[in-house]
Amino acid sequence: MVFEKAYAGIDLGGTKMLAVIADAQGKVLASEEQPTLADEGAESVMSRMAGMVRRLIALGGRQVSGLGVATAGTLDPEDGTVRYAGNLGWTQVPLGRTLERELGLKVTVENDANAAAYGEWKAGAGRGTRNCVFVTVSTGIGGGIVEGGRLIRGWTASAGEIGHLTIDWNGPACGCGNVGCLELYASGTAIGKAGAAAAAADPAAGRAMLDLAGGDAARITSREVAAAAEGGNPLALKLLRNAGRALGAGLASVVHLANPELIVLGGGASKIGAPLLGPMEEEFRRRVIPSLGEKVRIVPPELGVPAGAIGAALMAE
Ligand SMILES: [Zn+2]
Repeated sequence: MVFEKAYAGIDLGGTKMLAVIADAQGKVLASEEQPTLADEGAESVMSRMAGMVRRLIALGGRQVSGLGVATAGTLDPEDGTVRYAGNLGWTQVPLGRTLERELGLKVTVENDANAAAYGEWKAGAGRGTRNCVFVTVSTGIGGGIVEGGRLIRGWTASAGEIGHLTIDWNGPACGCGNVGCLELYASGTAIGKAGAAAAAADPAAGRAMLDLAGGDAARITSREVAAAAEGGNPLALKLLRNAGRALGAGLASVVHLANPELIVLGGGASKIGAPLLGPMEEEFRRRVIPSLGEKVRIVPPELGVPAGAIGAALMAE
């Protein structure tokens, strides 16, 4: 009988953590989700992470050859230390070493968007390509670049911060310290803020969005903007067109940098569909250098939410 290898992966998020056991093809054999409860402290979080892996191994009855952890923040990829992760309140946490000691497994720690990029490339929509970029558009915009079958990690394992490409060098301030970043124009957060501002400035034109938000402009999110656009509201459609164009301009810059054959575009906001993606594609085609971009395909992801955990598991291979 051929012994088939399996790997453990955990996507460690600010509010929840998802653990999986996956085979070498990225097929999920078992999974468990838990709230992160970051305010209980790093020791508690790491001990519960180890507990999830132990339970899944027992459940799956498979020998596991390694553990990959996907997390936000700046990392030391050599020893798996989380240098700083704002969403967890962590500074200099020896995540990799601690889990190695607890579980007796080799542990790889990876930036979460990069792990998702690797997962989509190896086991999802990017399967079979050599050069693939993954972009996720949700509250922020993140991403990762696979080149020649290898993830571009960078010095602090943070390469692929596509959301912080400068779109307008005189633009508004971003939380990262730069101004005019892509995610200020095209993220779900940005779309919601634009909807709130536009409806407050012109309640008649923004009526459809206001009605969906119970009459309170401050409660308008990307969801209300998308729903109003679906109903044909011209203001909502205009806002999504602006966001889509910014995203298209950003993707053209990504292609100029990385020269991929495929862009996998995921995240909640990317599900808004044609009112966002149509203008995005148009702007992308208008801006991209034809020899780099004319054959690039932009496709939805296949793995969805578990992409980070699956990618982390596959990186432990
Ligand atoms: Zn920024």
